Order: sequence, then structure tokens, then C-alpha cells
Amino acid sequence: MKIVVASGKGGTGKTMVAANLGYVLSRDRKVTLVDCDVEEPNLHLFFPAETVDEAVTAENPVFDPALCTQCGACGKFCRYGAITVLRDRVLFFAELCHSCGGCRIVCPEGAVTETGRAIGKVGTSHPLPGLTLVSGFLNEGEVQAPCVVRAARAAAGDYPLVILDAAPGVACAVMETITGCDLCILVTESTPSGLHDLALAVEAVRMLSLPAGVVINRSDGRDEAATAFCREHDLPVLMTIPFGREIAAIQNRGGLVARDLPGFTEKFAALYTDAVRLCGVKE
Ligand code: SF4
Ligand code: SF4
Repeated sequence: MKIVVASGKGGTGKTMVAANLGYVLSRDRKVTLVDCDVEEPNLHLFFPAETVDEAVTAENPVFDPALCTQCGACGKFCRYGAITVLRDRVLFFAELCHSCGGCRIVCPEGAVTETGRAIGKVGTSHPLPGLTLVSGFLNEGEVQAPCVVRAARAAAGDYPLVILDAAPGVACAVMETITGCDLCILVTESTPSGLHDLALAVEAVRMLSLPAGVVINRSDGRDEAATAFCREHDLPVLMTIPFGREIAAIQNRGGLVARDLPGFTEKFAALYTDAVRLCGVKE
């Protein structure tokens, strides 16, 4: 089973939920946690361990000046502005390239070939006996986050239980993360902006017909707006995490509330069973 933990916006505590869920479940089964928030991966901070890194490359065009006639077809085709054709040469801006391969196809002279360029890496570690952590890292300045997400997902394989931590929002990298998952846990705060962004995330999971439930984080006990939203959108509230200095202090030092705070192991174990039951997903 693949469970994705997502949120409409950053800073809701999504990674904290994924980390604690992975920790608790790994106590009695094999779990693979996958950090797909490749622009700001943080899961490894909860689980320091020795990592084996593998480079992620993307195919980039190479222009042969001996064959190129400066016809301009490749520059016209590239919708990402990665190619500018001058009178005497072709300028290529690698960081803008999305590796679609189109410029090679449209070139009438066969002047374009492709070569791999490193855009990030995937790190794998085994921080606990039952836990494997796979983290995707996109190099600074690169745009191909979905490519690194794909590589991280491939490295995680199809283990019986995979928990993916998606990037915040609903951009391409998030869609790449949630596609093919069995269940989505949406983490939100009970604030107007939190609920506005949650609505976007709900739209995305509904587009993919993905069963979903909600975790309300940093609750001050007045969650009427969030619970009304969930009722209206037919989303079960799976867990409510209170706002508290003790919880914040544990998180700030990179700790796990499920390990360091009494009662939270049971709460996160219940999150899993409730998510599977309420969302009607078969284990
Ligand atoms: S591979 Fe695609 S995105 Fe990259 S330069 Fe060629 S046309 Fe543009
Ligand atoms: S399409 Fe081919 S021939 Fe035309 S400018 Fe681009 S590389 Fe040169």
C-alpha cells in the first residue's frame, strides 16, 4: 500500500505527520518512507543515518554546430525558453530545459543529440530496523522536480507499505507523488488560509479519485471551520493534533512526538487504522 501525506501549503506539519507515522508503523512491520518534497527535503533530519546516494540525471540536448543551419525550428518548439537560435549558433540554457526531447525530434538536420546531466540525487538509508528512508534532493536552480520524485519513487520500489511525503501545494511534483497512491492523508491547520489551500489539495486528490482523510494540526480546540469543511467535502477527520509548547519543542530539536511524548504512539497507530478503515482501503 502507498500512503501519501500532502498539504495545500507549506508549514502545516505534513513532514512531522509522515515521520511519526513511519516511525510508529516500522515498530512492527517493514516501512519505506519516501521524501518527495525534493526542493526542501526534511525527513532525513528526523532519522539521521548513513546514506547511499545515487545521482539523478535528466536528458539534455547537445547541438552539433557542424550540422546546424540555424533554421530556428528547435527554438520555436521549446516552450520553456531553453533555446535561443542566433545567426551563427544555438544558445542552450540547461536549467530551463524540461527534457521533453522535442528539439531533437523537430530538428530537420539531425543536429541534436542528448546527454545526461545531473539534476539531483536520491539518498537511501536504514535508520531503524523496520524503516528504510529514501530522500529525493533537487539541485539548487534546477526545475525538474518531477524527475527527482520519479527517481525517489523508483528507488523505494513496491514494498508492502510505502509512505510518501509530498511537497506542499498542487504543482507537477505533487501530482507525480500522489499518482498511483492508494490513500492520501491531508494535513491542515484550522485557519482561513489553511482551509483555502486545503480546498486546492482536495481538488487534486479528487481528480485522481484518491481516497483521502484529514489531520488537523496545531489545533487550539476551535476547529469548527475545519470540521465543517471536511463534512461538506465528505472527508473524515482522522486525527487532531493540539497546539502545544511541548510538541513544538520536540519538533524543533528534530524529535518524534510518537517516541518522546506519552500517548502519541497510540495516536499515530490509530491514524493508520482509521485512515485505512474510514477511507475504505484494503490493506
Ligand atoms: S528537450 Fe524540450 S525543454 Fe529541453 S531544450 Fe529541447 S525542447 Fe526545450
Ligand atoms: S532545429 Fe536543428 S538545424 Fe535548426 S537551429 Fe535547431 S539545431 Fe539548428
